[in-house]
Amino acid sequence: MIRTLDHAHPVLRVRFEALKGLWDQAHPTEHLQITCVWRSRDEQALLYAQGRTAPGDVVTWTRVSRHNLMPSRAIDVCILVDGVGLCSTTSKAHVASWENAKYAPLGPLCETVGLIWGGAWLHHDRCHIQLPDDVPQRGAA
Ligand SMILES: [Zn+2]
Repeated sequence: MIRTLDHAHPVLRVRFEALKGLWDQAHPTEHLQITCVWRSRDEQALLYAQGRTAPGDVVTWTRVSRHNLMPSRAIDVCILVDGVGLCSTTSKAHVASWENAKYAPLGPLCETVGLIWGGAWLHHDRCHIQLPDDVPQRGAA
């Protein structure tokens, strides 16, 4: 699994960086953290098994993902908020928030920069952001 933007489609990368700029302006105390850019078909299969044939909660609805393409057409994020560190009650640390409301602003912001937010889908995937299909996989910059 790869978390760096250099494995993202060049158009996705540019649009995601624009998204992050808008996000940081609007939510200075909440940070967009990339959790996944690219993953292999094998990693996708393991994720798909989770909550079905393997223990855990269902985390994906698809066996073949936009994350499996190289360059990747999707980015997963989580939102980090200021929290209390695990080792000390006085040090501040960034902790992931899983509150739905924290992710909701991603919808309009993704639309502004020309990306698709998974949180608007029937099977909500609020951590997932992807490139629209009208952007060609090859030859785009
Ligand atoms: Zn995803």
